[in-house]
Amino acid sequence: MPIATRAFAATAADKPLTPYSFERRDPGPDDVLIDIKYCGVCHSDLHAARSETGRSTYPLVPGHEIAGVVKAVGSNVTRFKVGDRVGVGCMVDSCRECASCQEGVEQYCVPGFTGTYGGKDRKGGTDQTITQGGYSDHITVDQHFVLSIPDSLPLDAAAPLLCAGITTYSPLKEWGVGPGSRVAVIGLGGLGHMAVKLATAMGAEVTVLSTSDRKKADAERMGAQHFLINSDKDAMKAAAEKFDLIINTVSATHEIASHIQLLARDGTMIMLGLTTEGLPVFALPLLWRRRRIAGSLIGGIRETQEMLDFCARHGIACDIETIAPDQINEAYERMEKSDVRYRFVIDMASLAA
Ligand SMILES: [Zn+2]
Ligand SMILES: [Zn+2]
Repeated sequence: MPIATRAFAATAADKPLTPYSFERRDPGPDDVLIDIKYCGVCHSDLHAARSETGRSTYPLVPGHEIAGVVKAVGSNVTRFKVGDRVGVGCMVDSCRECASCQEGVEQYCVPGFTGTYGGKDRKGGTDQTITQGGYSDHITVDQHFVLSIPDSLPLDAAAPLLCAGITTYSPLKEWGVGPGSRVAVIGLGGLGHMAVKLATAMGAEVTVLSTSDRKKADAERMGAQHFLINSDKDAMKAAAEKFDLIINTVSATHEIASHIQLLARDGTMIMLGLTTEGLPVFALPLLWRRRRIAGSLIGGIRETQEMLDFCARHGIACDIETIAPDQINEAYERMEKSDVRYRFVIDMASLAA
């Protein structure tokens, strides 16, 4: 019996999200059926709902920061049982065969991972061929792509770790951040605030760069030791060559040349924001100090579990504002104005009430 599912969906690029019902596949041998309790609201959701990063297929149920409780498991599932606290992030499947999948970095799957929403479903099982995300009361996911949420993490504040958390954790680990590292974070939003907390917990000296001092107190509370306003030319000059790693979370088109000057020799700037236009980069400041600009995309399943366990050990979760499902359109409007500290999380359980 397919699983009757209630959701909020976008029906067109220029329409608000509205209530929507559809069916999930019945759990197969390797599947976990999850009662969704909370779903974080990521900027990518808004882009997808509005077809801003390629044309979406409608109706589209966004949401890839899912936290909930196991409702049923298939016969091959050994890692999870009914009642377990679990999460699902940006991926629900991948080819499982390519070099990236074999190495556990499924996000770089060569034929492409299956996105939690708007992806071509590799499993099928209902007439649904396009995956639908977490703005819904249930989801059926292959056990390989289900994460265990440690007991000490609250489900609501843990939900955004599945995208915002892992997206920042992965490059911090990959570039070896630890005690003594000097890390700068550009932009204190959903991603940025997690980068500050995680880098601080790893032992780094963290600086936040922002366009105003509105969030200075928040940055310090999260562990940042320094705060820089990036239009302050003197302060920027004084910070030249100070950082080993810059986590750049800005998704709007922005000026990066002055920020590259902040990198020490062999320093790297990690681009995490999805800018839709090119950014001018000059060769001289790069070659002069052997600096690098790199990208990074979410994280693999194994690393996502490692991140959740790390957060539990260090008592880290997201700063959230919980909303009801029917407040999602208003939340999108506020996100566009960066009016959220620091992630909206939808209380999906109220959808089932
Ligand atoms: Zn996301
Ligand atoms: Zn693959």
